[in-house]
Amino acid sequence: MSDLLKGLNFQLLFDAAVDAMLLVDDKGMIIFANNPAQEMFGYTKEQLCELNVDALMPPRYAHHHQQHRQAYTQSPEKRAMGSGRPLVAMRKNGEEIQVDIGLSPIETDQQRYTLVTIYEAERRKQAEESFKTSEERLQLAKDAAGLGVFDFDSNQNVLHWDEKMRELWGAESEDSIIPNKRFITAIHPDDRAARQASLEVAINPKGNGEYSAEYRVINPATQVERWVSAIGRMHFEDGVATRLVGVARDITEQKLLEKKLQEQRAETESISQQMVAAHTASAIAHELNQPLAAISAYSEVALHALQTNTHYSDNLKRALEGCVEQAQRAGGSLHELLAFLQKGDLIVARFDLNDAVKEALNIARGSGYVEFHPLLQLEENMPEVIGNKIQVQKILVNLLRNAVEAMRGARLKSSAIKVEVRTNAASNMAHVSVQDNGPGLEAEIAKRIFEPFFTTKTSGIGMGLAISRALTEANGGQLWLEPNTETGTNIGATFHFTLPFATQGA
Ligand code: ADP
Repeated sequence: MSDLLKGLNFQLLFDAAVDAMLLVDDKGMIIFANNPAQEMFGYTKEQLCELNVDALMPPRYAHHHQQHRQAYTQSPEKRAMGSGRPLVAMRKNGEEIQVDIGLSPIETDQQRYTLVTIYEAERRKQAEESFKTSEERLQLAKDAAGLGVFDFDSNQNVLHWDEKMRELWGAESEDSIIPNKRFITAIHPDDRAARQASLEVAINPKGNGEYSAEYRVINPATQVERWVSAIGRMHFEDGVATRLVGVARDITEQKLLEKKLQEQRAETESISQQMVAAHTASAIAHELNQPLAAISAYSEVALHALQTNTHYSDNLKRALEGCVEQAQRAGGSLHELLAFLQKGDLIVARFDLNDAVKEALNIARGSGYVEFHPLLQLEENMPEVIGNKIQVQKILVNLLRNAVEAMRGARLKSSAIKVEVRTNAASNMAHVSVQDNGPGLEAEIAKRIFEPFFTTKTSGIGMGLAISRALTEANGGQLWLEPNTETGTNIGATFHFTLPFATQGA
């Protein structure tokens, strides 16, 4: 240690200081000055060492200063000069400068000295100004963004919060500290668990400490609910989470808008399904009218033949043959009708099936079907398929919607929907499966689900799967329910559909 310090001397240390320093004896004579002092006052060090400190004051203060200096020598202590008031010093060229001065007594056996440190007040002021400006800027930005700031201290279990936070929480008191328990009381009981889960993620020392949560806050006085989005970062000490600093903002309007949009989308979807249903119903009525009328006429003939017993077998045979023929015609009409529904102006193109699946998941979510975890198993580097992408997405959205509706209300451990995209080796087609965790299908129901208008839902139309099957076939593929779920085992339902790959150059 002493070796290291050998080369250092008093003057070197003195000169290394950033601030101007003078060593003054008890008569006020300067006996040592450093480089910054030389620069500040415009004297050389040698010149300074011939001066009394009083000479560094404007003459009008010099006398006063002398008295102060003498009083200081009576009771020397470490303190700031001028009790915080700005002081004036004078450069060699007579220019006056505002300064802050610190005094520290140094005593040796023989002498008493004072170490005088001089700071240019302008520099301090500038630093203060720029700090104030940046603080003001921050405040302005915070206000403009409507942000409240919070600082949670987990050791004390209290939260420091600003005015905006108090306003969001509807707090009556202006205390800048609130016990954590009281802070949580205002959070909607249904949202506390989710918030706690986000907090636990942030508390985990293995994570990145990021905190993000959305929850409702109930104003204790008015009972009005507001949605709040809070983000922050956890601070750790020795691996223990100690402090969470973050910002919160009111997102009620945004949430209302989202809800309205979702309702609108759901409404549009339901209206379009109702329209399809209405069109289909009227088309079916039209197509079936004639065969039904014929069946009715043949039946009357058959009845009449039975009643009158005339030409019994011949007439009856002909009437029954007519019934069979008309019934088959009715069946044919239905088939044609579905084929017509799927036809339209089918525009086909090559597309990436994995992309279509991801987009369909977003469409389903955007339509209000949000309560599921998608488990995607997508085959990489799969060739493109050919078909009408919008129709394929419609099939997927229908399957996802059915899966979510089947899982809603059922007491589920997991609300996962597995969507798998792979190549079906047997048919050399792209193969998509959608597997849910819902209650599955009873065998009797499974038999009928592709029939138009078959539904087990109170608000269902029963056209989703009929249309989806028609659309899949129009795109050159097939749609089916996995046979083992048809036995009604409670393992959820798995639907599959296939699509042709685009051939080279198609
Ligand atoms: P809707 O959804 O209007 O009822 P769909 O044709 O889409 O019409 O479905 C017909 C019926 O098939 C549903 O009412 C339901 O009983 C059954 N179903 C469809 N998908 C599932 C599924 N994933 N899990 C259980 N049942 C299903």
